[in-house]
Amino acid sequence: MTSAALTATVDLGAIAHNLDVLRTASNAAVMAVVKADAYGHGAVPVAKAVLAAGAAELGVAHIAEARALRAAGVDAPITAWLHAPGADFEGAVADHIDIALSSARQLDAVVAAARAAGVTARVTAKVDTGLNRSGVATDEWDDFAEKIAKAHAEGAVTVRAVMCHLARGDEPDHPLNSEQAARLDAAAADLARLGAAPEIMHMANSPAALTRPDLARDMVRPGIALYGRTPVPELGDFGLIPAMTLTARVALVKKVAAGTGVSYSHTWIAPRDTVVAVVPAGYADGVPRLLSGRIRVRIGDRLFDGIGRICMDQFVIDLGPDGAGVREGDEVELFGTGARGGITAKDWADAIGTIDYEIVSQVGNRVVRRYLHAGAARDEAVADE
Ligand SMILES: *Cc1c(COP(=O)(O)O)cnc(C)c1O
Repeated sequence: MTSAALTATVDLGAIAHNLDVLRTASNAAVMAVVKADAYGHGAVPVAKAVLAAGAAELGVAHIAEARALRAAGVDAPITAWLHAPGADFEGAVADHIDIALSSARQLDAVVAAARAAGVTARVTAKVDTGLNRSGVATDEWDDFAEKIAKAHAEGAVTVRAVMCHLARGDEPDHPLNSEQAARLDAAAADLARLGAAPEIMHMANSPAALTRPDLARDMVRPGIALYGRTPVPELGDFGLIPAMTLTARVALVKKVAAGTGVSYSHTWIAPRDTVVAVVPAGYADGVPRLLSGRIRVRIGDRLFDGIGRICMDQFVIDLGPDGAGVREGDEVELFGTGARGGITAKDWADAIGTIDYEIVSQVGNRVVRRYLHAGAARDEAVADE
């Protein structure tokens, strides 16, 4: 076992299982979204595990994320879809990254990079079908479509795909989902008419992949569900298994006398003589400071309350007057699958009014990632990646 103070154990077998759930539900190929360090789970090991388990492609936001995967030896198709002016399109072209384009400005820059390198860039037209965030704006579409068809005819680019992103994928029956799909179909038809038919089409995020197989087209693009969190809790968990368990080891156990304040500003005062423990995890590690006074942790089969402020590196829990037999070095589960009465990332999210996406992706760099490999029993055979 690890002796690290703070560990995120990532169950790659759970991620492979979740991939199967998504493929079965959508009946489509999967572009596994591994942006933001695979939602905090570790982009390289997750990417390798999902590809081994049958994911067709990978998706990230930034070109730098895609290039880091290439540098780690990942050779599957990777699409990067978010670029600021001055983005590293030269590097993307050199590394065979599929570049999703949101404007004619981006297209011009990619064409220039491809021409400079003497190659054909693979691009995806990212169409704004109603999210009104990234994607080619409706009023720019006709001009963009003509330009991309021209670049395609000239051999500067090949149009791999058209994609869009759903605004209300987590409301499966909302009419906007089908409207966005119809607009994407129309965009693909425009490109085909101009002689630059896209090879594939994709729009479904996790909730759509799980609930709207009619929107899957050629490929779905799930993120959060791969990591085992349901994107539509009110519709169930779909048999998904949460992949990340965050644990710490008790750093210190000490007695605190009745009337003594604990942690910054003494927001908690011991109502009786008690024993407390220091948990070496704080907001720099992704434990929200807003959980101060509301966090609970599992040690063995018991839950203990956090007391006082959550600090940058640590917080304190109340073990009760008898100390509950907890010793320095004991393992503390902050969140995990919910087994044995434990807390989940969703519990944290609900307590502070956010979503579990934010909880898992905020787990910091100081937290040591350890990987349970596919096929390993879940409580043993932990191996460092
Ligand atoms: C993040 C993202 C996804 C994945 O969304 P989930 O809700 O995590 O499944 C898919 N497509 C795009 C464009 C994204 O930015």
